[in-house]
Amino acid sequence: MRAKTKLIHAGIVGDEATGAVSTPIYQVSTYKQEAVGKFKGYEYSRTGNPTRHALEVLISELEGGFAGFAFASGMAATSSVMMLFQKGDHVILTDDVYGGTFRVMSKVLNRFGIEATFVDTSDLAVVEAAVLENTKAIFLETPTNPLLKVTDMEAVAKLAKEKSLLTIVDNTFMTPYFQQPIALGADIVLHSATKYLGGHSDVVAGLAVVNSEKLATDLHFVQNSVGAVLGPQDSWLLMRGIKTLGLRMEEHQSNAQRIAEFLQEHKAVEKLYYPGLVQHPGHELMKKQTTGFGGMISFDVGSGEKADALLAKLRYFTLAESLGAVESLISVPSRMTHASIPIERRQELGITDGLVRISVGIEDVEDLMEDLDQGLA
Ligand SMILES: *Cc1c(COP(=O)(O)O)cnc(C)c1O
Repeated sequence: MRAKTKLIHAGIVGDEATGAVSTPIYQVSTYKQEAVGKFKGYEYSRTGNPTRHALEVLISELEGGFAGFAFASGMAATSSVMMLFQKGDHVILTDDVYGGTFRVMSKVLNRFGIEATFVDTSDLAVVEAAVLENTKAIFLETPTNPLLKVTDMEAVAKLAKEKSLLTIVDNTFMTPYFQQPIALGADIVLHSATKYLGGHSDVVAGLAVVNSEKLATDLHFVQNSVGAVLGPQDSWLLMRGIKTLGLRMEEHQSNAQRIAEFLQEHKAVEKLYYPGLVQHPGHELMKKQTTGFGGMISFDVGSGEKADALLAKLRYFTLAESLGAVESLISVPSRMTHASIPIERRQELGITDGLVRISVGIEDVEDLMEDLDQGLA
């Protein structure tokens, strides 16, 4: 099955009981048992729900994994995966990882004795040097948010295997339509499904896919014990969104490529980050490990004041947190998504006050370019 067909035909299609073409929303908490312990696969909806299950099978098949798990948010998925570890364990993470991931590692899970080191994972030697005796996993985000740095997943996964570490990849930016980390050796894939998978700015959700029965058993145990599960309505909304993922990703990407080429020529743009440009340092690696470059662009306009002036003039780019939706969004990472990262760290990473990030929507690209042009004037 090819990618676009898979989005429609993978998973559990329809409803066996009624023939309904769309998976019904099983808005139910508990299930009748014929005798104690004798039931039809579901006993309580924290443990399992048919609508959520259909979504979990779908994402697992899309990522080429062994099993999928749906959570109440991307952070719930990430936190639950981190609960596979225990006190004294150490995890290496990409340095400009999503701000919420940095926060949960450095302000919450550290209190439970899970240690974290943040390094530039695009440099394999740096990753290798960060491995300690108690390291248990390498957590990658590629390309990163907001600087779009690219990590060689296959090389890191190989190193991880040699050292008996898990490789975990946050695949939010690329989605399984463009990037499939498990095929490159990753053990666990994470998603903020709030973004491209949902795609319409109407649901907050997280997904995890694991590549083995052992990890599936362990993560299901955490999911059921901790209970940060996704409800049936939101599970259904996600499945609805995923059906058009291919069409949307193609459009996000072709619009982003045009806009990146336009920004590259623009005098008001001091620095530009888009992996679809041949000048981007991760361009060749992206070509090797993904089938697309995505719809996220970051650029530096020089100062916070200039960024504010741009924001005030734009008509079609909504100032908002989040990304990956049909409508174009714009944000200022230093004051929004990455505000939880200490200022010295932000400066080290290049997340300056003048850096703006756009999530290119699926509007007509001519309108988007005209809008940016008048905004930057
Ligand atoms: C948004 C995001 C998250 C967190 O997901 P939520 O659904 O907001 O909890 C994690 N990783 C990346 C890359 C994100 O963009």
